[in-house]
Amino acid sequence: MQSDVQVIKQYGSHISSIRCNKCGTARKFYSYQLPRTDFQVHCKKCDNNFLVRVEKRKKFRLKTRMTVSFSKWGDPREVTNCSIGNIVNLSVDGFCIDYYGSPKEFKPGDTIYFSFVLPDLTREEINNAGIIKWVKRTNPNNFGQKLLLGVQFSDLDMHQRKALGFFLMGETNRNLNP
Ligand SMILES: [Zn+2]
Repeated sequence: MQSDVQVIKQYGSHISSIRCNKCGTARKFYSYQLPRTDFQVHCKKCDNNFLVRVEKRKKFRLKTRMTVSFSKWGDPREVTNCSIGNIVNLSVDGFCIDYYGSPKEFKPGDTIYFSFVLPDLTREEINNAGIIKWVKRTNPNNFGQKLLLGVQFSDLDMHQRKALGFFLMGETNRNLNP
């Protein structure tokens, strides 16, 4: 009896390959065949049974380029010298900002306040707080270089989540049917 669970990550609607943890034989599954709970796979080659868990990444991330203003000190609309950057990808959970700044300015765990406008018909302003999850430097030898900040939204209200969700849905459909 195998007790450890093999975890596979599944993105979108692709085919997942599951490899036997004993003999290495791979078997392919379509995403619709994968159950949401742990399931047992039987390897026909070596008669091994093993458990598989599927982690679905269902949150859609949109590659984009939108201007965002942000600050550690409060609502960027009310703070002088707030930082300006670009949202390079966006989901209902958070975004990634790139901007030129000092690598010491922000660190993981910091709260930032941000404001950006959805570039669709609603022109909805998303104005909220988020937690910095990670900071990446694109060139570690340079000061004043481009930085990437991964930010998770703290508490978008229902209205903002909805506006964001509709925007992302619209963009996805546009990408699928140009
Ligand atoms: Zn096997």
